[in-house]
Amino acid sequence: MADIMKIFLRNGAIRAAPVRTDAAMAYATERMKSRFSRLPFAPTHAIVAVFAGRPYIGARGGDYSENEARLRLACDEFSGLHPEYLFYVSANAYPLPAVQAARLAGLGWIGLNGLLNVPGVGSSVTIGAVLTDLPMPVGEESGYCAQCGLCVRSCPTAALTRENGVRRFEREKCLSHRRQKEGLPLSREGYYGCDICQDVCPYATYS
Ligand code: SF4
Ligand code: SF4
Repeated sequence: MADIMKIFLRNGAIRAAPVRTDAAMAYATERMKSRFSRLPFAPTHAIVAVFAGRPYIGARGGDYSENEARLRLACDEFSGLHPEYLFYVSANAYPLPAVQAARLAGLGWIGLNGLLNVPGVGSSVTIGAVLTDLPMPVGEESGYCAQCGLCVRSCPTAALTRENGVRRFEREKCLSHRRQKEGLPLSREGYYGCDICQDVCPYATYS
């Protein structure tokens, strides 16, 4: 186990931890479940890796194709270490629900803004995973944020709302989603859209 984590860190991840796939898939959409059932083998576990995002864009993360290359190197090393098991690169964790998989792996808590917040790192991260049938002991899962509501109140397009304690996210209204969908360049260094819901969070380490 320690060897596997060291391999991840050596290949650019800033944190990594294992999760059971059945626990993570409990949060999956029907589309994710369908994709999961069509994988070339039945992974029982995933090692979820967090890569640095906005503060290191272009240098140490924030780019899924770079992350995929890093995960592929890690996968090759895992296969050399455990040739009797299978390892499968999943650059953005898909078909695992990435944010929940990372929370269940104990890598960070989920905010009302829907983002993973990694203690000491913040929410500007990207998530990848390696799926495997290698059994691994899993640690304690993380929880959710303090629900102060600042991110909801600060969203300029009301993409993020909360009514009677129920959080709602309308993706089509989100400036970050729209910018990525339209293939527009970053609005400023490291920013896809407004990202105000990250910046206002009292736990955002980098803003
Ligand atoms: S701003 Fe408040 S409600 Fe939103 S993610 Fe941060 S702690 Fe949670
Ligand atoms: S990125 Fe901007 S528009 Fe999208 S949910 Fe966050 S604050 Fe709202």
